[in-house]
Amino acid sequence: MNLHEYQSKALFAEYGVPVPEGRVAQSPNEAARAASLLGGGLWVVKAQVHAGGRGKAGGVKLAKSVAEVEAHAKGMLGTRLVTHQSGAEGLPVDHVYVEAGSDIARELYLSLLVDRGAEQIAIMASAAGGVDIEEVAAKTPEKIFTVHVHPAAGLQDFQCRRLGFGLGLDKPEQAELARILRALVRLMHECDAGLVEINPLIVTGDGRVVALDAKINIEENALYRQQRLAGMRDAAQEDERERRAREHDLNYVSLDGNIACMVNGAGLAMATMDLIQLHGGEPANFLDVGGGATAERVEEAFNIILTNANVKAILVNIFGGIVRCDLIAEGVVAAVRKADVRVPVVVRLEGTNVGQGKQLLAESGLKIIAADGLTDAASKAVELAGGGS
Ligand code: ADP
Ligand code: MG
Repeated sequence: MNLHEYQSKALFAEYGVPVPEGRVAQSPNEAARAASLLGGGLWVVKAQVHAGGRGKAGGVKLAKSVAEVEAHAKGMLGTRLVTHQSGAEGLPVDHVYVEAGSDIARELYLSLLVDRGAEQIAIMASAAGGVDIEEVAAKTPEKIFTVHVHPAAGLQDFQCRRLGFGLGLDKPEQAELARILRALVRLMHECDAGLVEINPLIVTGDGRVVALDAKINIEENALYRQQRLAGMRDAAQEDERERRAREHDLNYVSLDGNIACMVNGAGLAMATMDLIQLHGGEPANFLDVGGGATAERVEEAFNIILTNANVKAILVNIFGGIVRCDLIAEGVVAAVRKADVRVPVVVRLEGTNVGQGKQLLAESGLKIIAADGLTDAASKAVELAGGGS
């Protein structure tokens, strides 16, 4: 689960990571009041969306008067901001963050993430901050410094020095960085964060180190013990289908293709997507209805899939190990009937009671295409979808 910049910065402040003073606002009026309360003569109005790249997309604007703050807020609130990370539809701007303008001497990059391969927290830092870090990683990887934090030993002084030195910081700045790194490692652990990214981390004209941007991702599976953070969820920023799926305990991930998949078991779902691609198609989603799929869940899964206008064919691939194929077939028939499915549905069933399941599909009178085996199912689905996206 992603947090907004303003929420992440509030957490930073709690942990002692320096951030500019700021206030969140939901109306132009509120934004103007926030600017007055902050005082000073330079503000930045920042659209709060779950995507980076706001600066280039017009979602971060400098203001030199309260009236200008109000005007920028008015221009952003209620619109959708499209950035290179947001997808073509963009994300709704329901909040803006009004922040005191900082005096930037240098822009650095800093992130902490769970490195699953190493089973440790990895800290990455680069003097090439403010810009696209993916580009730095691709073109000049030597400009990124990485250290791993051993869970038992914790962050070591020499590691802080290595990063500070790599960033070209002077002694007092290095001490400040070390303090920030310790705070962020603690935050990662205590908040069950999977990612903390600060781009840019700045050095100010007077030598302070400050987090100017903030992105935090909280591990979804840990939210049960992070009630306060769970309360910060902003559903408006999330994929509507993914949200609905979560409510029904379905594992769903939106993708860009046009063949919807409905599969039981994550491994089988991955294999199904691979086969669709192998046959020249593009999956519209990953969907694992779970080992204990019931007719109701199959029906809900159909409803979610069908809200995606890109879908040109549906591929149902169920292995009846724990579930029975006849029950799944009933669910599919009921769902196709109820949901007024207009696109072809290819069904591959295998396992317990597969004969009865296939018979139910055949006798339903619906436009359901039975497939024998996974390859047959995938190639039929790709063909019916018109050869992929
Ligand atoms: P994004 O990464 O989504 O583009 P950032 O928060 O990184 O958004 O802001 C983009 C750029 O805007 C920063 O690199 C920085 O140059 C400038 N900026 C952001 N916040 C401030 C601030 N409080 N004071 C001065 N400049 C800022
Ligand atoms: Mg940024």
